[in-house]
Amino acid sequence: MASGTRALQQLDQRFCWHPFTQHAVWHDPLVLVSGEGALLRDSEGHEYIDGNSSIWTNLHGHRHPKIDAAIRAQLDRVAHTSFLGLTNPPAIQLSAALCALWPPNTLTRCFLSDDGSTAIEVALKMAAQFWQLTGHPEKRRFVAFGGAYHGDTMGASSLGGISTFHGRFAGWQFPVTFVNSVAELAECTTGTIAAVVIEPLIQGAAGMRLWPPGMLAELRAWCDVNDVLLIVDEVMTGFGRTGKMFACQHENVVPDLIALAKGITGGYQPLAATLTTERVFSAFLGELDRTLYYGHSYTGNQLGCAAALASLAVFREENVLDQLASQISRFTELLTRFQTNRHVAEVRLCGFIAGIELAGFPPDAMAGAKVCVAARKFGLLTRPIHDTIVLMPPYCITDAQLVQCVEAVERAIEVVAGH
Ligand SMILES: *Cc1c(COP(=O)(O)O)cnc(C)c1O
Repeated sequence: MASGTRALQQLDQRFCWHPFTQHAVWHDPLVLVSGEGALLRDSEGHEYIDGNSSIWTNLHGHRHPKIDAAIRAQLDRVAHTSFLGLTNPPAIQLSAALCALWPPNTLTRCFLSDDGSTAIEVALKMAAQFWQLTGHPEKRRFVAFGGAYHGDTMGASSLGGISTFHGRFAGWQFPVTFVNSVAELAECTTGTIAAVVIEPLIQGAAGMRLWPPGMLAELRAWCDVNDVLLIVDEVMTGFGRTGKMFACQHENVVPDLIALAKGITGGYQPLAATLTTERVFSAFLGELDRTLYYGHSYTGNQLGCAAALASLAVFREENVLDQLASQISRFTELLTRFQTNRHVAEVRLCGFIAGIELAGFPPDAMAGAKVCVAARKFGLLTRPIHDTIVLMPPYCITDAQLVQCVEAVERAIEVVAGH
């Protein structure tokens, strides 16, 4: 079997099809072989800080002893068993633990699936079917926001407001109305809306764009008045990213449905959860045809649920959210240096998520991509969104590594700007 870097790259080029990748121009990918804490190591032995937490998934670092041990212990029992008509301890415990993170009698039901997209997909089906079952089949339209990203399966991409990703499939999409603010909702015919879907506080794939403070609470109030379900997509923001366990907590909002994925397992396994209320769940009880006919083969996967339970234990046992508060202050302070950088238009910050938007490069110069490639030389691995450099490190990052991240971006910008 090939193991040298070159041989692996050639095999990759021959057999792999990568996500979001133009293979005609992409070559010599980094081959990542191991990780430890906030560091990743490539097949040539170079080390990099995992500056975007392996595309927004990792929380407590790679090879965290407690999560590793939990997965190994589960592996010694069984890796996977079906959740259709059967159950298993880690899936039960995880469902209870996720509901317990919300005020009593609010979000009380947990539906497990595999990815952010599937968590959204099931939320859409729950919302549409809920209105059918409660005598309002006319409530079948969804409202989403311009610039939104909710995943790439067909239902989830119907809600997407980024034309590069979603435009091509417009002909297959669900009935969705796009708005850009809560005020614009006033123009919608509310009687036909099943649900509004939002990324709370910050839109990720749009380039780390912040909503005005108070907007989420305003949206909750609008949904209540108009009897519309609120679906919150915390696939990126969940599990501490914004400084609180969930972004909704910043505005004391409880949604009717919430999608959780990415960080749910600490970044170890594909797993997702859609939580909802007893009001929604109980509408599905009764005759057989009220059933939610939705599921995936790996629903309730025991290894994934064991990892997720271990990640929640790390939050408790290592006081992660308390620690994170001081790391966020430090991160904020370190990023102020970009205020005087003439190649930076703006730094958008939300908890432990930063979007550093470049300025002064031609729009088609791929400056964001070039800065991220240049940053590798300074030991940082991350990925841009157009000309916005994303810094979103694992919570376990050390102070020295955090400084290195910010300096690597600064130096990489200098390299690309030609200083
Ligand atoms: C990543 C992401 C998704 C999609 O999740 P996948 O696991 O990639 O399917 C959905 N919503 C948001 C906000 C995301 O960041």
